[in-house]
Amino acid sequence: MKFYSTKNKNHLVSLKEAVLKGLPPDNGLYMPQQIPCLSQKFFDQLGSLSLQEMALEVANAFFGDDLDPVDLRWIVEDAINFDAPLKQIHDNVFSLELFHGTTMAFKDFGARFMSRLMSKLISKQDKTVHILVATSGDTGSAVAQGFYDVEGIHVTILYPSGKVSTIQEQQIATLDKNISTLEVDGTFDDCQQLVKTAFLDRDLNKKVLLSSANSINVARFIPQSFYYFYALAQAQKITDKPLVFSVPSGNFGNLTAGLFAKKMGLPIDHFVAAVNANDTFPKYLTNGKFKPEPSVKTISNAMDVGNPSNLGRIFDLFDYDVEAIKKEISSYSFSDDKTREIIKDIHDSTGYLLDPHGAVGYLGLQKYLGSQRENLAGIVFETAHPAKFKDVVDQVIGGNIAIPKRLQAFMGREKTSKRISRKYEDFRAYLLS
Ligand SMILES: *Cc1c(COP(=O)(O)O)cnc(C)c1O
Repeated sequence: MKFYSTKNKNHLVSLKEAVLKGLPPDNGLYMPQQIPCLSQKFFDQLGSLSLQEMALEVANAFFGDDLDPVDLRWIVEDAINFDAPLKQIHDNVFSLELFHGTTMAFKDFGARFMSRLMSKLISKQDKTVHILVATSGDTGSAVAQGFYDVEGIHVTILYPSGKVSTIQEQQIATLDKNISTLEVDGTFDDCQQLVKTAFLDRDLNKKVLLSSANSINVARFIPQSFYYFYALAQAQKITDKPLVFSVPSGNFGNLTAGLFAKKMGLPIDHFVAAVNANDTFPKYLTNGKFKPEPSVKTISNAMDVGNPSNLGRIFDLFDYDVEAIKKEISSYSFSDDKTREIIKDIHDSTGYLLDPHGAVGYLGLQKYLGSQRENLAGIVFETAHPAKFKDVVDQVIGGNIAIPKRLQAFMGREKTSKRISRKYEDFRAYLLS
């Protein structure tokens, strides 16, 4: 499979180049040349397949031409080594729990898959690959854990100082070996800008082999389509109503993966892109004008993105036709107050505990289902374990939720991150040192 740039459909590259470069030189985004339709036989069997079996089928459709089948199976099985159970919150509303991986956030899917795919693609190459990752919280930990101790790869993680939770910082900023962390005096958008500028810096790229692990990398967002299949298969065992997916969105990689799943043939009725106060996308759907804004800090901090980097892919999929996008996707923004309220309401009325991101997703689903006459069922993506946002959640429900062992393991370790300004010259000097 070849990959094109959203800025130039004639600029075709191999899987290896798309994955190692991350971003095309023209500042577009890589897209697969085709989105393959999966076979009717696969869909007929969906209910009897495991998450790994579905993942292998999807991965094979995109990456099968370029990898040895034994390697591909290993990548899938080693990366997707945890479950994504569907839980009923109430009536026709379900939660797909995407937090059962190492760092307890959905980014484990993409990060674990990408690190293993990359290690297979570079095995015969000797120059060290330097991966740059800007994170608003969960990407950094998932990537750091996913790449920890992988040979031939060095990872530098940038995160906004004071804008990630304590647990997130403990997961990102305490690693050693091939992982370095920079604590940036700025916002997530500043971090993202530093990374983007480095990729476009020709002189730097002659000296260092840079690669990206943000959701702009095709190897990260495509694996996020796996669990759409698994969610739908599980839900169809309980309901025969058309299914709406509500995705708490920041950089829109997760949602883009869902659009891919639908193009592959998965019968998804509608998407909800639920956002916090960072409302660039719902505004775009309302007035047809795309206007990036500086990011605003919220309690669902992994979605504090003012200029979502995957929108270029969504525009490309729909040929920049906002009316066509609106037919598939509805988008709503919710305040922190509303988010807190719904965490408490759902906890009190059903016992189910949402994290702030899942709560925004829930609100989005509720709003969409309430606006439709048709009898629909909905799946909210629970993108992180509530204990990752313990401060907020405890306060809202007036409790003291337990921190799972997997997260406790990170606490109390010494910070190894280096403080840096948001000036590009400083970052550049660091990369060359
Ligand atoms: C990254 C993240 C999101 C947003 O996902 P995107 O693919 O960037 O839209 C939502 N929730 C959590 C917990 C995250 O870590």
